[in-house]
Amino acid sequence: MRVSQLLNPTLREVPAEAEVISHQLMVRAGLIRKSAAGVYTYLPLGLRVLRKIETIVREEMDAKGGQEVLMPIIQPAELWKESGRWEVYGAELFRLKDRHNREFCLGPTHEEIITDLVRGEIRSYKQLPLRLYQIQNKYRDERRPRFGLMRGREFIMKDLYSFDRDEAGLDESYQRMYDAYCRIFSRCGLTYRPVEADAGAIGGTGGTHEFMVLADSGENSVVYCPDCDFAANVEKAECRPQVIEDVEVVGQRKLVSTPEMKTINEVCKFLSVPKTGLVKTLLYQGDDKTFLVLIRGDRELNEIKLNNALGGFVSLQLASPQVVAEILGCEPGYVGPVEVPAGLLVVADEEVPLMKRAVCGANKANYHFVDTVPSQEFRMDRVLDLRMVEPGEACLKCGAPLKEARGIEVGQVFKLGTKYSKALGAIYLDENGEEKHCVMGCYGVGVSRSMASSIEQNHDESGIIWPIPIAPYHCIIVPVSTKDAQVVEAAEKLYQDLQGLGVEVILDDRDERAGVKFKDADLVGYPIRVTIGSKTLGNGQVELRERKTGETQLVSIADVAQQVKRIIEKALVC
Ligand code: ATP
Ligand code: MG
Repeated sequence: MRVSQLLNPTLREVPAEAEVISHQLMVRAGLIRKSAAGVYTYLPLGLRVLRKIETIVREEMDAKGGQEVLMPIIQPAELWKESGRWEVYGAELFRLKDRHNREFCLGPTHEEIITDLVRGEIRSYKQLPLRLYQIQNKYRDERRPRFGLMRGREFIMKDLYSFDRDEAGLDESYQRMYDAYCRIFSRCGLTYRPVEADAGAIGGTGGTHEFMVLADSGENSVVYCPDCDFAANVEKAECRPQVIEDVEVVGQRKLVSTPEMKTINEVCKFLSVPKTGLVKTLLYQGDDKTFLVLIRGDRELNEIKLNNALGGFVSLQLASPQVVAEILGCEPGYVGPVEVPAGLLVVADEEVPLMKRAVCGANKANYHFVDTVPSQEFRMDRVLDLRMVEPGEACLKCGAPLKEARGIEVGQVFKLGTKYSKALGAIYLDENGEEKHCVMGCYGVGVSRSMASSIEQNHDESGIIWPIPIAPYHCIIVPVSTKDAQVVEAAEKLYQDLQGLGVEVILDDRDERAGVKFKDADLVGYPIRVTIGSKTLGNGQVELRERKTGETQLVSIADVAQQVKRIIEKALVC
């Protein structure tokens, strides 16, 4: 390819709306252009990167027994109604009607379609296991489409679905996909970590890992152990309750005036108690149910744990001040767990009954109780692990203090079990002729998000630094002057030679200053640059520069093609 003919509109200035570096650099390097919020066109170089990631994904899926299919983007509502997700998927689902008023959606995922396919085609245990995948656009009307390709409304995903005879088969499929994902992200040159993740209340048989690219801009928070292999999304990480020692029980509880003290900080300061000595009492609303949640004042409630423990609400949120007033007769800041109305469910974090003495709201405006003894005075209908893990806590596997990091979720593997095969009736006959439900797993890679994640990890102030396996081209040739016939000739010859060797090479044949060409080459992030100028060419030499290290060396023009080839081959070994 010649740069003079390439649609590669690079920009010097940072686009105003691009918050994260990958978004900024993808726009500046001319890889993508926006069509609508969260919807993008891939320009030629962007598409090349995407195709390379897809190829890696495809190779690894095929190696693990995956068979590629292509399912429709437009999905009939009936299937979603059969699985029960038409109602629960909510506003993220793009819904549409055809001219006959039939309902459809744009696929955000394909469990329904694939299960429908399999129920129609699979009869016998002999046809299992079956592992089908596709690489395709997905549609999710995200609440906040942002960060460029990181959170699009139209994005590209690889999704594989496994169908096995039993749990043991599912375990095997799951392990294969887990291993494949490790290879995919390693081959893409990403620094990543598989973490235990939340399977949600509808998570079938459980078991799920997310693959996190570690980057400060990540939307996820993960904890990991520096000494063993434990790593988990904070949403999921289990906690052991901790007891605050050196607290003494003193007499009976007292009602104290706390005028206009509504926040934990205000109350603690006013009463001179640490946050660990206070119980936060929160009135929650899960769909149409209301309940109280108790947690120690210094802790953060983990709503995902709460929702899972209570069976999975579609919507879970703090009750409004009006609802709090109706049920408890006070403002949210004064809600407490003493003598709560009969019939109101109270769920408490495990640490609450271990508190020897606590301050809490009195369900009365401007008043709190002090010196309550939670285990004796609070009705706690259910006591559960409901809190967020904190960095520094002991690893539950080995005891070392946990660390925290930010992560970008680039993939997830998931044991679905029989949720969809039961809902849609995907049945096979076993050896004894008995009907059984297929045991399913699903496994997604965010292909377009992986591309963005790579930039989050691999860039500097000049631009992108592509790992060789996913670079749009491996090598750019920059003739310093297009007026010097010798330089042009040498550049053309090297261009032909590299192509002959199978190197993906691009020639910057534009009539531009060398500085402009260098800037663009660094911005786009070609791993290798060969600069040809009249001075060194006089000695039969050209300059070879690696984008990653910035190291330059003078190389004989006779050897340079082979040398470039060697660098690339070394990087592509997998
Ligand atoms: P998130 O929690 O980030 O919204 P998710 O858990 O809903 O993602 P999955 O359903 O597990 O996503 O989809 C599989 C993969 O698809 C994710 O691991 C992620 O890499 C990618 N992905 C999901 N949503 C988006 C999006 N809006 N834009 C780009 N990639 C996405
Ligand atoms: Mg996920």
